[in-house]
Amino acid sequence: MNKTLGLYLHIPFCRSKCAYCDFYSVTDHGFTARYTDALILHMEDYAPGVKNYYIDTVYMGGGTPTVLPKKSLLDVIDGIYGNFNVLETAEFTVECNPATADRSTFTALRRAGVNRLSIGFQSACDNELVNLTRVHNFDGAVATFEAARKSKFDNINIDLMYGIPEQTERSLALTLDRVTALEPEHISLYGLKIEPGTPFAQKADRLALPDEDTEYNMYASAVRYLEEKGYRHYEISNFAKPGYECAHNLRYWNCEEYLGLGAGAHSYYGGRRFSFKRDIGAYIDALENVDAGVGIIDEDYEIAPMERIGEYVMLRLRLTDGIDAAEFEQRFGLPLERLYGKYLNVYTENGFMQKRGNAYSFTLKGMYVSNYILSTMLDFDESVYSTLSSGLDK
Ligand code: SF4
Repeated sequence: MNKTLGLYLHIPFCRSKCAYCDFYSVTDHGFTARYTDALILHMEDYAPGVKNYYIDTVYMGGGTPTVLPKKSLLDVIDGIYGNFNVLETAEFTVECNPATADRSTFTALRRAGVNRLSIGFQSACDNELVNLTRVHNFDGAVATFEAARKSKFDNINIDLMYGIPEQTERSLALTLDRVTALEPEHISLYGLKIEPGTPFAQKADRLALPDEDTEYNMYASAVRYLEEKGYRHYEISNFAKPGYECAHNLRYWNCEEYLGLGAGAHSYYGGRRFSFKRDIGAYIDALENVDAGVGIIDEDYEIAPMERIGEYVMLRLRLTDGIDAAEFEQRFGLPLERLYGKYLNVYTENGFMQKRGNAYSFTLKGMYVSNYILSTMLDFDESVYSTLSSGLDK
């Protein structure tokens, strides 16, 4: 047994719904006990299939896992240890939000084996938190962080956002100043996106959003500032003190296997990508009634060799180390520059990408528009692929 696997568990409950969020979560907590029981049954179902794997990362995300009653949270963690071969050295993260966890919750989590927390601060400016419809203020977030520290958590991520309504370059600088003063080991900084179907999308034209240039300046100056403070910029939106990169998320970006359980969870496992429906009721029904025949699989497909290459490029380019051409060829038996040459050359000539040694990666300017660039690169030259791959085993 030497294969490793990441495990993700989705906890789709929040105290209230933030106006910008399109993650799957509900605010009706009437189902929490049945949901966590179903999740444990789901783990039992999958356990025999992954008995030859060591779990080296566990991530409980959501939603807000810490809105679960403490007992349910601990039952789920027991379920994880009871069903899977979790390595003693595994990184075990639980997401939480200020105002949903206190020192006793953190102490219980630490004792149960959780060793990393991800706390959603989003901003250190209370007017911006109000605009985001967050349920906490900055002081509350700091109190949560300090409670976690007192409970001996020595690996904590703080989530932040830029591009918030009414945010300015100055207010983001203030947020970064206040947050780095807390010395978290890891910081994530995501640009606000207006997601279809959210309350923000309905009133997008009335939101006081920073303009594009301001947003780019925010991103670029945040990257510089965090690097000066000793955080390595290792992924478009992620920064870590040396040795504190998120091992679980690195699995995603390195195209390594993970199993995701829970309503709305996604998996990349056994050569397939699959996900479960974003429907708590259907999820519970299916797990409670084995014979009910309620389908909870949403998507399920085998990844064709060509798609595998596309996914690898899309995900690996998110990392600041980028893609090493020799490693790519060793992995796929195909030369990166023949397949993607037309993009790599144009984007490198125009300052969106760079070549360092054998590796292609985004420049800062390229990272800022990476979603657009990556969507263009999905469309690599299939005729080159067909010629080059004709001798490969499909
Ligand atoms: S707390 Fe997080 S998951 Fe819940 S609604 Fe807000 S942003 Fe979304």
